[in-house]
Amino acid sequence: MSYRCQICGSTFKKPDGPTSSRHINSNKHKGALIKKGTSTSLTRERRISSSAKQPTDMIFSRLENLENQMKFVISKITKIESNSAQSSLTMTYSELERLEQQILKIIPRGDSISVDELLSKRQFKQTPFNNIEKAILALIDGQKIEGTEGKSKFKVDGYIGRLIQP
Ligand SMILES: [Zn+2]
Repeated sequence: MSYRCQICGSTFKKPDGPTSSRHINSNKHKGALIKKGTSTSLTRERRISSSAKQPTDMIFSRLENLENQMKFVISKITKIESNSAQSSLTMTYSELERLEQQILKIIPRGDSISVDELLSKRQFKQTPFNNIEKAILALIDGQKIEGTEGKSKFKVDGYIGRLIQP
């Protein structure tokens, strides 16, 4: 049975051999201890320097994450904004009715008007085309006016260029 020093690897016949002051003060043991200590502190230093790098890497990946989240949020906001821009084109029922009445007044009874002429009227300058289009289609649906193809840059429903009030 032999007893081994965990530091320098020396073997002893007696159990207290590795811990005897004679061995602990020996050059072999001291040398091994210093070597081990140095290598330990080196590993520690290396660990420190590599962990010193990590926070920077972490900051960069966190920044990258934040940047991606920002992009996501901005895209959401843009979507919401474009949706609310669209919803500003939607009218209440009474707004639609009022617009229908305005259009009816402009088209002379038994006569016709082109969509372009209608749009050029002062009272419709601020009205989105979508809204005017809806009102015209509602008037046609209600058989209050008729729509036909005709010479007009703006066309309702893609083909109606002239409006007739019979
Ligand atoms: Zn030893």
